Amino acid sequence: PLVLGIETSCDETGIGIVRGRALLSNTIASSMDEHARYGGVVPEVAARAHLEALQPAIEAALTEASVRLEDLDAIAVTSGPGLAGALMVGVGAAKALAVSLGKPLYAVNHLVGHIAADLLTGDEVEYPTVALLVSGGHTSLLLVRDLTSDVELLGETMDDAAGEAFDKIARILGLPYPGGPEIDRAAASGDPDAIRFPRGLSRASDMAKHRYDFSFSGLKTAVARWIEQRQAEGEPVPVADVAASFREAVVDVLVTKALAACAAHGVPRLLLGGGVIANRRLRESALARGAEAGVAVRIPPLSLCTDNGAMIAALASQLIVSGRRASTLAFGADSTLPVTEIQIAEQVTA
Ligand code: ATP
Ligand code: MG
Ligand code: FE
Repeated sequence: PLVLGIETSCDETGIGIVRGRALLSNTIASSMDEHARYGGVVPEVAARAHLEALQPAIEAALTEASVRLEDLDAIAVTSGPGLAGALMVGVGAAKALAVSLGKPLYAVNHLVGHIAADLLTGDEVEYPTVALLVSGGHTSLLLVRDLTSDVELLGETMDDAAGEAFDKIARILGLPYPGGPEIDRAAASGDPDAIRFPRGLSRASDMAKHRYDFSFSGLKTAVARWIEQRQAEGEPVPVADVAASFREAVVDVLVTKALAACAAHGVPRLLLGGGVIANRRLRESALARGAEAGVAVRIPPLSLCTDNGAMIAALASQLIVSGRRASTLAFGADSTLPVTEIQIAEQVTA
């Protein structure tokens, strides 16, 4: 099926068009620059930016795909989770398009969309797979038995998301927003073993209780204290070593828990998604440690890992292929939509 997907859950206005598992276009307009001076995404600013970016993004995606609106088989939209105001812009636009064109509408889960991105790589995709989604908004470990019907949440962050931790530490180090790429760059010339920062919820006692949950606030505090102490002693802060040691701590926890989940569930596959996948050390470590553990690690291209509309269209396309009916128009933006709700408001048969 030919599907247009709309994604507006955070700061990317994403419009993607797919035909089945073939990617025809993936247009992304980001309002990231507008948030930079605030050091994080401002919901109101993001919502306004979506409103302005949507129409041109749709035009651009249609042109690139050489598709007309009338040709579409369905419209897909992220209904959650995400920023409520930002989601509402996409949901409103999707409903208007679907109604005016008389096309079916599929309201889908953003996190499951990240998993569906893998369908567009052109490689054979196998389930079950464990999926690790790491971005500015989420750090989630999922067990995917079937993309369209069975996604289980194994664990998530209890405080900061991994990307958020990168952004906050970057700010402490005086680096600009978004902090992830800056820390990655600074870390390249640093020693990852220079400072042993804590690995949150990784001790045996924590693992028993919070097996696959994450916590990065303790790490953030530890890094801040370490820097303060250095400054109190009148010593310069070794930015490269702090960045490399911090990055190592985050990556160690993420990869350790993801591979532990693969082992515990007997699943030799790990899919990575989310903007933090851009991190060089994370990719390297996941691939190397995955190979040692006999786990095949899949990393889609970054344009499909960060928020985009193509993954939303891909998920809807898969739902259509597996015989799911369209959503009714009785849905809204759900900022806390659980990952188990893959599609919402599916029509019931009479
Ligand atoms: P959502 O959480 O809804 O998926 P988001 O906009 O918060 O959306 P993304 O756009 O997927 O998340 O990713 C942005 C985050 O990724 C930021 O926190 C950024 O610092 C982080 N990031 C980007 N590049 C890197 C990198 N090389 N290393 C670490 N973190 C990175
Ligand atoms: Mg973003
Ligand atoms: Fe996302």
